[in-house]
Amino acid sequence: MNYEVIIGLEIHAQLATKTKAWCSCEISTKAFENTKVCPVCSAQPGALPVLNEKAVEYAISSALALNCKINPHSSFDRKNYFYPDLPKGFQITQFPSPIGTDGYISIKDSNGNEKKVGIERVQMEEDTGKSTHMAGASLINLNRCGTPLIEIVGKPDIRDAKEASEYYKKIQSILVYLGVSHGNMQEGNLRCDVNLSLRKKGDTKFGTRTEVKNLNSFKSVEKAIEHEIQRQAALLDSGKKVEQQTLLFNIDTGTTKVMRTKSNADDYRYFPEPDLLPLIVSEAQIKKLKENLPELPDAKIKRFMQQYSIPYYDADVLTSSKELAQYFETAAGAYKGEAKKASNWIMVELLKLINESGSDIAKSPVPALELANLLNFVLDDTISGKIAKDVMQKMYDERISAAKAIEKMGVKQISDTSALEEMIKKTLTEHAAEVDRYRKGEVKLYGFLVGQTMKNTKGQGNPKLINDILKKLLDG
Ligand code: ZN
Ligand code: MN
Repeated sequence: MNYEVIIGLEIHAQLATKTKAWCSCEISTKAFENTKVCPVCSAQPGALPVLNEKAVEYAISSALALNCKINPHSSFDRKNYFYPDLPKGFQITQFPSPIGTDGYISIKDSNGNEKKVGIERVQMEEDTGKSTHMAGASLINLNRCGTPLIEIVGKPDIRDAKEASEYYKKIQSILVYLGVSHGNMQEGNLRCDVNLSLRKKGDTKFGTRTEVKNLNSFKSVEKAIEHEIQRQAALLDSGKKVEQQTLLFNIDTGTTKVMRTKSNADDYRYFPEPDLLPLIVSEAQIKKLKENLPELPDAKIKRFMQQYSIPYYDADVLTSSKELAQYFETAAGAYKGEAKKASNWIMVELLKLINESGSDIAKSPVPALELANLLNFVLDDTISGKIAKDVMQKMYDERISAAKAIEKMGVKQISDTSALEEMIKKTLTEHAAEVDRYRKGEVKLYGFLVGQTMKNTKGQGNPKLINDILKKLLDG
């Protein structure tokens, strides 16, 4: 392909406050339609908004975590447009002076290198109601009206589909770590729009971009980008122009359809919201929120690498969610061996079982302390490392402890030296011919004799002891 791909993401995140942005209505996705409304959020004449302090704190914490500068003097604006699920006829948002500007996050690019993606702005705004379209009718539910949102506008620093989903995952992870958003895409807590354009390699001017909406999973972000790159490249290759359009992506067909064509930039007739005072935050308030930020994914990765001597790859996987990170720390803390072993078992064995059964780490049938117990049994030679995988499967399937699973399976390793010596002597008698050949110089028969001994112990002999005793009896 002769084009460079330019991608910028706009992410809307619902803030997990108890009540709405400008009124005290409860935020609930389960409540009966149009029961969580009041004169303010249903836009009755004369009703006045009052800013939710918690929403401001959450927005500032988010902006800080995204390395933004906090604007000590921001303000609210009206973005005017008509839609039935927006009863006021405008959305309260922030236009010239958002709460946060000029931030960045770090992601892995497609070559596995660290890459900074810029964040232009973080602005506070409100959600709309919900429309449900049916044959011959549209239903409006205003329960969601006035739910506080932040919009995170990324700089056009992203170059392919993988980077885009890495970026989106990182933003989700940061917001969930902060506890400011539930980050659940299926529930619409987090929504993503993709701006994409192509330009000839070497060009400095951006090409015409399109905006793809309706992306509610990491997969759909990637698929929409891949499709849009192909579509725009085909247009440009055949000498046609890309039109500035807003597109809707359909995950089932993997294609987009045109929602609207923009002849000019949309004119929302922004003007300052006259019913809300400017938002002024003091240095002291910002400092306090900054001090109260929890440990974020990047810092946790660094700490894990140092504290537990695990490679970046492990630390990155283990910090991908707060729950997984917690699980690892509990397991590694209780395990008496090296943390890398616990990391391997979590990443390979446990996550495999969890993915296969569609469970999640917070509800793992094998709790972190039991995983540590299992690994400690390998460490002190109670069971072999090989059999531990079967034990884990049993623990997982039957939700039982490591000790219980080992007892039920009867797989305790034989580490009794005299018992092992008896078994080895028996093996050597059974294979007297091979022993003879071994002693005459056919050293490769050693492996065979180890194998036969293992067979006689039904795989439960301690391999290290077998090795020691066998050597002593053969060569000693
Ligand atoms: Zn209300
Ligand atoms: Mn917005």
